[in-house]
Amino acid sequence: MTNPTKSRKEAGFDPAALARPEVTALKPYASARRIMKAEGLEGEVWLNANESPEAEDLAPLTMNFNRYPEAQPEAVVERYAAYAGLSSEQVLVTRGGDEAIELLVRTFCRPGTDAVLEFPPTYGMYAVSARTNGVGVVDLPTDPSTGWTPDADRIAALLDERPDVKVVFACSPGNPTGASIPRAVTERLAAATAGRALLVVDEAYVEFAPEASVVDMLGTHPHLVVIRTLSKAFALAGLRCGFVLADPSVIGLLLKVIAPYPIPTPTAQIAAQVLAENGIARMHARVGRIIAAREALAEGLSALPGVEAVMPSETNFLLVRMRDAEGVFNALVRRGIIVRDQRSQPSLDDAIRISVGLPEENARLLAAMADIMGDRR
Ligand SMILES: *Cc1c(COP(=O)(O)O)cnc(C)c1O
Repeated sequence: MTNPTKSRKEAGFDPAALARPEVTALKPYASARRIMKAEGLEGEVWLNANESPEAEDLAPLTMNFNRYPEAQPEAVVERYAAYAGLSSEQVLVTRGGDEAIELLVRTFCRPGTDAVLEFPPTYGMYAVSARTNGVGVVDLPTDPSTGWTPDADRIAALLDERPDVKVVFACSPGNPTGASIPRAVTERLAAATAGRALLVVDEAYVEFAPEASVVDMLGTHPHLVVIRTLSKAFALAGLRCGFVLADPSVIGLLLKVIAPYPIPTPTAQIAAQVLAENGIARMHARVGRIIAAREALAEGLSALPGVEAVMPSETNFLLVRMRDAEGVFNALVRRGIIVRDQRSQPSLDDAIRISVGLPEENARLLAAMADIMGDRR
Protein backbone atom coordinates (compact mmCIF):
# COMPACT_ATOMS: atom_id res chain seq x y z
CA MET A 1 0.00 0.00 0.00
CA THR A 2 1.29 3.45 -0.85
CA ASN A 3 1.29 6.13 1.81
CA PRO A 4 -0.49 9.15 0.30
CA THR A 5 1.13 11.67 2.65
CA LYS A 6 4.63 10.36 1.88
CA SER A 7 4.14 10.24 -1.89
CA ARG A 8 2.62 13.73 -1.85
CA LYS A 9 5.67 15.08 0.01
CA GLU A 10 8.07 13.25 -2.34
CA ALA A 11 6.29 14.73 -5.35
CA GLY A 12 6.52 18.18 -3.76
CA PHE A 13 2.77 18.64 -4.28
CA ASP A 14 1.04 21.23 -2.08
CA PRO A 15 -2.67 21.21 -2.99
CA ALA A 16 -3.36 24.07 -0.56
CA ALA A 17 -1.11 26.36 -2.61
CA LEU A 18 -2.85 25.34 -5.83
CA ALA A 19 -6.47 25.57 -4.61
CA ARG A 20 -8.56 28.73 -4.61
CA PRO A 21 -7.29 30.82 -1.66
CA GLU A 22 -10.84 31.25 -0.30
CA VAL A 23 -11.16 27.46 -0.12
CA THR A 24 -7.77 27.01 1.56
CA ALA A 25 -8.78 29.65 4.12
CA LEU A 26 -12.04 27.88 5.00
CA LYS A 27 -12.51 25.92 8.18
CA PRO A 28 -14.24 22.61 7.34
CA TYR A 29 -17.85 22.34 8.56
CA ALA A 30 -17.66 20.92 12.08
CA SER A 31 -20.53 18.45 12.22
CA ALA A 32 -21.07 16.70 15.55
CA ARG A 33 -20.59 13.34 13.81
CA ARG A 34 -17.13 14.40 12.68
CA ILE A 35 -16.17 15.73 16.12
CA MET A 36 -17.37 12.57 17.87
CA LYS A 37 -15.44 10.35 15.46
CA ALA A 38 -12.26 12.40 15.86
CA GLU A 39 -12.52 12.16 19.66
CA GLY A 40 -13.54 8.50 19.70
CA LEU A 41 -16.85 9.28 21.43
CA GLU A 42 -20.05 7.29 20.97
CA GLY A 43 -23.25 9.30 20.45
CA GLU A 44 -26.51 7.74 21.62
CA VAL A 45 -29.08 10.53 21.61
CA TRP A 46 -28.78 12.84 18.61
CA LEU A 47 -30.52 16.16 19.23
CA ASN A 48 -28.13 18.34 17.24
CA ALA A 49 -29.28 18.51 13.61
CA ASN A 50 -33.03 19.23 13.83
CA GLU A 51 -33.82 15.91 12.19
CA SER A 52 -37.16 14.22 12.79
CA PRO A 53 -36.91 11.69 15.63
CA GLU A 54 -39.58 9.60 13.90
CA ALA A 55 -38.85 7.77 10.64
CA GLU A 56 -41.11 7.07 7.68
CA ASP A 57 -41.15 3.52 6.31
CA LEU A 58 -40.53 4.01 2.60
CA ALA A 59 -38.97 2.25 -0.37
CA PRO A 60 -38.26 3.21 -3.98
CA LEU A 61 -40.63 1.73 -6.59
CA THR A 62 -38.05 0.31 -8.97
CA MET A 63 -34.88 -1.67 -8.44
CA ASN A 64 -33.17 -0.88 -11.77
CA PHE A 65 -31.11 2.25 -12.05
CA ASN A 66 -29.36 1.89 -15.43
CA ARG A 67 -31.11 4.98 -16.88
CA TYR A 68 -30.50 8.61 -15.93
CA PRO A 69 -33.32 10.12 -13.87
CA GLU A 70 -35.68 12.83 -15.09
CA ALA A 71 -33.85 16.18 -14.85
CA GLN A 72 -36.78 17.56 -12.84
CA PRO A 73 -39.03 14.71 -11.67
CA GLU A 74 -42.49 15.68 -12.89
CA ALA A 75 -44.52 13.94 -10.17
CA VAL A 76 -42.45 15.64 -7.44
CA VAL A 77 -42.69 19.08 -9.06
CA GLU A 78 -46.45 18.77 -9.56
CA ARG A 79 -47.18 17.44 -6.10
CA TYR A 80 -45.01 20.02 -4.37
CA ALA A 81 -46.62 22.79 -6.44
CA ALA A 82 -50.07 21.56 -5.38
CA TYR A 83 -48.93 21.31 -1.72
CA ALA A 84 -47.53 24.87 -1.80
CA GLY A 85 -50.45 26.33 -3.80
CA LEU A 86 -48.26 27.27 -6.78
CA SER A 87 -47.92 26.31 -10.45
CA SER A 88 -45.26 23.83 -11.62
CA GLU A 89 -43.27 26.62 -13.33
CA GLN A 90 -42.63 28.16 -9.91
CA VAL A 91 -40.97 25.00 -8.48
CA LEU A 92 -37.42 23.65 -8.78
CA VAL A 93 -36.40 20.39 -7.05
CA THR A 94 -32.88 20.39 -5.56
CA ARG A 95 -30.59 18.14 -3.51
CA GLY A 96 -31.81 19.55 -0.25
CA GLY A 97 -32.27 23.17 0.74
CA ASP A 98 -28.48 23.42 0.88
CA GLU A 99 -28.18 22.96 -2.87
CA ALA A 100 -30.86 25.62 -3.33
CA ILE A 101 -28.72 28.08 -1.34
CA GLU A 102 -25.61 27.20 -3.33
CA LEU A 103 -27.44 27.53 -6.67
CA LEU A 104 -28.77 30.98 -5.79
CA VAL A 105 -25.26 32.15 -4.91
CA ARG A 106 -23.74 30.69 -8.09
CA THR A 107 -26.49 32.03 -10.34
CA PHE A 108 -26.71 35.58 -8.99
CA CYS A 109 -23.30 36.47 -7.48
CA ARG A 110 -20.06 37.03 -9.38
CA PRO A 111 -16.97 35.65 -7.58
CA GLY A 112 -14.66 38.40 -6.38
CA THR A 113 -17.26 41.10 -7.06
CA ASP A 114 -20.66 40.45 -5.49
CA ALA A 115 -21.89 39.70 -1.99
CA VAL A 116 -24.77 38.22 -0.03
CA LEU A 117 -26.44 39.81 3.00
CA GLU A 118 -27.46 37.76 6.04
CA PHE A 119 -28.87 38.43 9.51
CA PRO A 120 -26.91 36.54 12.16
CA PRO A 121 -27.52 34.61 14.33
CA THR A 122 -28.59 32.54 11.33
CA TYR A 123 -28.06 29.37 9.31
CA GLY A 124 -24.37 28.78 8.56
CA MET A 125 -24.67 27.61 4.96
CA TYR A 126 -25.42 31.07 3.49
CA ALA A 127 -21.91 32.25 4.39
CA VAL A 128 -20.29 28.88 3.55
CA SER A 129 -21.83 28.83 0.06
CA ALA A 130 -20.83 32.45 -0.53
CA ARG A 131 -17.25 32.01 0.71
CA THR A 132 -16.60 28.77 -1.20
CA ASN A 133 -17.67 30.63 -4.32
CA GLY A 134 -15.49 33.69 -3.70
CA VAL A 135 -18.56 35.80 -2.89
CA GLY A 136 -18.55 38.34 -0.05
CA VAL A 137 -20.70 38.09 3.09
CA VAL A 138 -22.27 41.17 4.67
CA ASP A 139 -23.57 40.58 8.21
CA LEU A 140 -26.34 42.66 9.71
CA PRO A 141 -26.83 41.12 13.17
CA THR A 142 -30.30 41.20 14.65
CA ASP A 143 -31.15 42.04 18.24
CA PRO A 144 -32.63 39.47 20.64
CA SER A 145 -34.74 42.26 22.20
CA THR A 146 -36.62 42.64 18.89
CA GLY A 147 -37.16 38.87 18.59
CA TRP A 148 -34.25 38.86 16.09
CA THR A 149 -36.23 40.87 13.55
CA PRO A 150 -34.17 42.30 10.66
CA ASP A 151 -34.19 46.10 10.55
CA ALA A 152 -35.76 46.96 7.16
CA ASP A 153 -34.72 50.65 7.30
CA ARG A 154 -31.07 49.77 7.85
CA ILE A 155 -31.25 47.27 5.00
CA ALA A 156 -32.58 49.86 2.56
CA ALA A 157 -29.73 52.23 3.53
CA LEU A 158 -27.16 49.45 3.33
CA LEU A 159 -28.29 48.35 -0.14
CA ASP A 160 -27.93 51.97 -1.33
CA GLU A 161 -24.27 51.84 -0.31
CA ARG A 162 -23.65 48.24 -1.36
CA PRO A 163 -24.88 47.60 -4.90
CA ASP A 164 -22.69 44.47 -4.83
CA VAL A 165 -25.23 42.73 -2.55
CA LYS A 166 -27.23 40.54 -4.93
CA VAL A 167 -28.90 38.07 -2.59
CA VAL A 168 -30.43 38.72 0.85
CA PHE A 169 -30.93 35.57 2.97
CA ALA A 170 -33.61 35.71 5.66
CA CYS A 171 -34.47 32.56 7.62
CA SER A 172 -38.09 32.32 8.83
CA PRO A 173 -38.81 30.57 11.13
CA GLY A 174 -35.19 31.20 12.06
CA ASN A 175 -32.47 28.67 12.72
CA PRO A 176 -31.15 28.89 15.45
CA THR A 177 -33.48 31.55 16.89
CA GLY A 178 -36.76 29.65 16.50
CA ALA A 179 -38.52 32.95 15.71
CA SER A 180 -40.27 33.82 12.47
CA ILE A 181 -40.09 37.21 10.78
CA PRO A 182 -43.38 39.10 11.13
CA ARG A 183 -45.30 39.41 7.87
CA ALA A 184 -45.17 43.24 7.89
CA VAL A 185 -41.37 43.11 8.20
CA THR A 186 -41.05 40.72 5.24
CA GLU A 187 -43.18 43.12 3.23
CA ARG A 188 -40.82 45.96 4.14
CA LEU A 189 -37.80 43.77 3.31
CA ALA A 190 -39.38 43.00 -0.05
CA ALA A 191 -39.86 46.73 -0.69
CA ALA A 192 -36.26 47.50 0.38
CA THR A 193 -34.78 44.83 -1.93
CA ALA A 194 -37.05 45.34 -4.98
CA GLY A 195 -35.00 46.23 -8.07
CA ARG A 196 -31.74 45.72 -6.13
CA ALA A 197 -31.38 42.15 -4.90
CA LEU A 198 -33.17 38.84 -4.55
CA LEU A 199 -34.94 38.39 -1.23
CA VAL A 200 -34.59 34.73 -0.25
CA VAL A 201 -36.78 33.52 2.62
CA ASP A 202 -35.60 30.15 3.94
CA GLU A 203 -38.71 28.29 5.15
CA ALA A 204 -37.01 25.01 6.15
CA TYR A 205 -39.17 24.87 9.32
CA VAL A 206 -42.38 26.39 7.99
CA GLU A 207 -44.51 23.25 8.54
CA PHE A 208 -44.13 23.89 12.29
CA ALA A 209 -45.58 27.42 11.80
CA PRO A 210 -47.56 27.37 8.53
CA GLU A 211 -48.99 30.85 9.13
CA ALA A 212 -45.44 32.25 8.85
CA SER A 213 -45.12 31.32 5.16
CA VAL A 214 -44.73 34.09 2.58
CA VAL A 215 -45.31 31.80 -0.42
CA ASP A 216 -48.50 33.74 -1.22
CA MET A 217 -46.31 36.85 -1.81
CA LEU A 218 -44.49 35.19 -4.72
CA GLY A 219 -47.13 36.22 -7.25
CA THR A 220 -46.78 39.92 -6.46
CA HIS A 221 -43.01 40.01 -5.71
CA PRO A 222 -41.03 38.45 -8.59
CA HIS A 223 -37.71 39.04 -6.77
CA LEU A 224 -38.86 36.93 -3.80
CA VAL A 225 -37.54 33.36 -3.51
CA VAL A 226 -38.62 30.74 -0.95
CA ILE A 227 -36.48 27.74 0.04
CA ARG A 228 -38.13 24.56 1.34
CA THR A 229 -36.94 21.06 2.30
CA LEU A 230 -38.17 17.54 3.06
CA SER A 231 -35.43 17.20 5.72
CA LYS A 232 -37.31 18.53 8.75
CA ALA A 233 -41.11 18.11 9.10
CA PHE A 234 -41.22 15.45 6.35
CA ALA A 235 -38.63 13.38 8.28
CA LEU A 236 -36.40 12.79 5.23
CA ALA A 237 -33.01 14.38 5.94
CA GLY A 238 -31.31 11.32 4.43
CA LEU A 239 -33.25 11.63 1.16
CA ARG A 240 -31.65 14.97 0.16
CA CYS A 241 -34.62 16.74 -1.36
CA GLY A 242 -35.38 20.45 -1.27
CA PHE A 243 -37.12 23.09 -3.34
CA VAL A 244 -36.79 26.59 -4.72
CA LEU A 245 -40.13 28.36 -5.08
CA ALA A 246 -39.86 31.48 -7.25
CA ASP A 247 -40.97 33.37 -10.32
CA PRO A 248 -40.62 31.19 -13.46
CA SER A 249 -37.94 33.60 -14.78
CA VAL A 250 -35.78 32.92 -11.69
CA ILE A 251 -36.41 29.15 -11.94
CA GLY A 252 -35.33 29.34 -15.61
CA LEU A 253 -31.97 30.88 -14.63
CA LEU A 254 -31.36 28.31 -11.89
CA LEU A 255 -32.10 25.52 -14.39
CA LYS A 256 -29.15 26.72 -16.49
CA VAL A 257 -26.77 26.29 -13.53
CA ILE A 258 -28.07 23.14 -11.78
CA ALA A 259 -26.43 19.80 -12.68
CA PRO A 260 -28.14 17.96 -15.56
CA TYR A 261 -29.50 15.07 -13.45
CA PRO A 262 -29.45 16.33 -9.87
CA ILE A 263 -32.22 14.20 -8.34
CA PRO A 264 -31.45 10.46 -8.01
CA THR A 265 -34.26 8.11 -9.11
CA PRO A 266 -34.89 6.68 -5.58
CA THR A 267 -35.10 10.21 -4.15
CA ALA A 268 -37.66 11.25 -6.76
CA GLN A 269 -39.76 8.12 -6.20
CA ILE A 270 -39.80 8.46 -2.43
CA ALA A 271 -40.41 12.23 -2.53
CA ALA A 272 -43.44 11.66 -4.78
CA GLN A 273 -44.82 9.16 -2.24
CA VAL A 274 -44.58 11.48 0.76
CA LEU A 275 -46.08 14.35 -1.24
CA ALA A 276 -49.21 12.32 -2.00
CA GLU A 277 -52.24 13.23 0.11
CA ASN A 278 -51.73 10.54 2.77
CA GLY A 279 -48.02 11.40 3.05
CA ILE A 280 -48.88 15.03 3.77
CA ALA A 281 -51.46 13.90 6.34
CA ARG A 282 -48.79 11.78 8.09
CA MET A 283 -46.47 14.82 8.12
CA HIS A 284 -49.16 17.00 9.74
CA ALA A 285 -49.81 14.36 12.43
CA ARG A 286 -46.08 14.07 13.14
CA VAL A 287 -45.72 17.86 13.39
CA GLY A 288 -48.50 17.82 16.00
CA ARG A 289 -46.64 15.21 18.06
CA ILE A 290 -43.34 17.07 17.81
CA ILE A 291 -44.93 20.36 18.85
CA ALA A 292 -46.52 18.66 21.89
CA ALA A 293 -43.16 17.12 22.80
CA ARG A 294 -41.47 20.50 22.30
CA GLU A 295 -43.82 22.21 24.75
CA ALA A 296 -43.26 19.48 27.35
CA LEU A 297 -39.49 19.71 26.86
CA ALA A 298 -39.57 23.52 27.14
CA GLU A 299 -41.43 23.22 30.44
CA GLY A 300 -38.95 20.65 31.77
CA LEU A 301 -35.96 22.74 30.73
CA SER A 302 -37.37 25.95 32.24
CA ALA A 303 -37.59 24.24 35.62
CA LEU A 304 -33.84 23.38 35.69
CA PRO A 305 -31.68 25.54 37.96
CA GLY A 306 -28.90 26.37 35.45
CA VAL A 307 -31.29 27.34 32.66
CA GLU A 308 -31.67 31.09 32.26
CA ALA A 309 -34.26 31.10 29.46
CA VAL A 310 -35.93 28.81 26.95
CA MET A 311 -36.65 30.95 23.90
CA PRO A 312 -40.10 30.68 22.27
CA SER A 313 -39.94 28.32 19.28
CA GLU A 314 -41.91 27.97 16.05
CA THR A 315 -39.75 25.04 14.96
CA ASN A 316 -38.71 21.50 15.98
CA PHE A 317 -35.92 22.74 18.27
CA LEU A 318 -35.38 24.90 21.34
CA LEU A 319 -32.78 27.58 21.88
CA VAL A 320 -31.76 27.58 25.53
CA ARG A 321 -29.76 30.20 27.41
CA MET A 322 -27.76 28.75 30.28
CA ARG A 323 -25.49 29.75 33.08
CA ASP A 324 -22.73 27.45 31.78
CA ALA A 325 -23.53 26.49 28.19
CA GLU A 326 -20.04 25.19 27.44
CA GLY A 327 -19.81 23.03 30.56
CA VAL A 328 -23.27 21.53 30.07
CA PHE A 329 -22.63 20.89 26.36
CA ASN A 330 -19.42 19.01 27.14
CA ALA A 331 -20.95 17.06 30.02
CA LEU A 332 -23.84 16.00 27.76
CA VAL A 333 -21.42 14.83 25.05
CA ARG A 334 -19.62 12.69 27.62
CA ARG A 335 -22.98 11.05 28.39
CA GLY A 336 -23.61 10.33 24.69
CA ILE A 337 -26.19 13.12 24.27
CA ILE A 338 -25.39 15.41 21.36
CA VAL A 339 -26.90 18.89 21.18
CA ARG A 340 -25.69 21.91 19.23
CA ASP A 341 -23.39 24.53 20.68
CA GLN A 342 -24.37 28.03 19.47
CA ARG A 343 -21.68 29.98 21.29
CA SER A 344 -19.92 31.16 18.11
CA GLN A 345 -23.07 33.04 16.97
CA PRO A 346 -23.51 36.72 17.85
CA SER A 347 -25.72 37.30 20.95
CA LEU A 348 -25.78 33.54 21.68
CA ASP A 349 -22.56 33.05 23.66
CA ASP A 350 -24.60 31.41 26.46
CA ALA A 351 -26.85 29.23 24.29
CA ILE A 352 -27.28 25.69 23.09
CA ARG A 353 -29.81 24.46 20.54
CA ILE A 354 -31.70 21.25 21.28
CA SER A 355 -33.67 19.38 18.62
CA VAL A 356 -36.91 17.89 19.91
CA GLY A 357 -36.49 14.12 20.14
CA LEU A 358 -38.79 11.23 20.96
CA PRO A 359 -40.45 11.63 24.40
CA GLU A 360 -38.04 9.06 25.90
CA GLU A 361 -35.02 10.88 24.42
CA ASN A 362 -36.25 14.20 25.81
CA ALA A 363 -36.73 12.58 29.21
CA ARG A 364 -33.18 11.23 29.10
CA LEU A 365 -31.84 14.68 28.19
CA LEU A 366 -33.76 16.33 31.06
CA ALA A 367 -32.54 13.74 33.56
CA ALA A 368 -28.94 14.18 32.39
CA MET A 369 -29.17 17.97 32.57
CA ALA A 370 -30.71 17.89 36.05
CA ASP A 371 -27.88 15.61 37.12
CA ILE A 372 -25.16 17.76 35.51
CA MET A 373 -26.50 21.00 36.92
CA GLY A 374 -27.19 19.47 40.30
CA ASP A 375 -23.47 18.64 40.40
CA ARG A 376 -22.47 22.27 40.04
CA ARG A 377 -24.80 23.90 42.55
C1 LIG B 1 -31.98 22.16 7.59
C2 LIG B 1 -31.96 23.48 6.94
C3 LIG B 1 -31.88 23.66 5.54
C4 LIG B 1 -31.75 22.62 4.51
O1 LIG B 1 -31.39 21.40 4.79
P1 LIG B 1 -31.33 20.29 3.66
O2 LIG B 1 -31.20 19.04 4.44
O3 LIG B 1 -30.16 20.60 2.78
O4 LIG B 1 -32.61 20.37 2.90
C5 LIG B 1 -31.94 24.93 5.03
N1 LIG B 1 -32.05 25.98 5.82
C6 LIG B 1 -32.14 25.85 7.14
C7 LIG B 1 -32.30 27.07 7.96
C8 LIG B 1 -32.09 24.61 7.75
O5 LIG B 1 -32.13 24.52 9.08
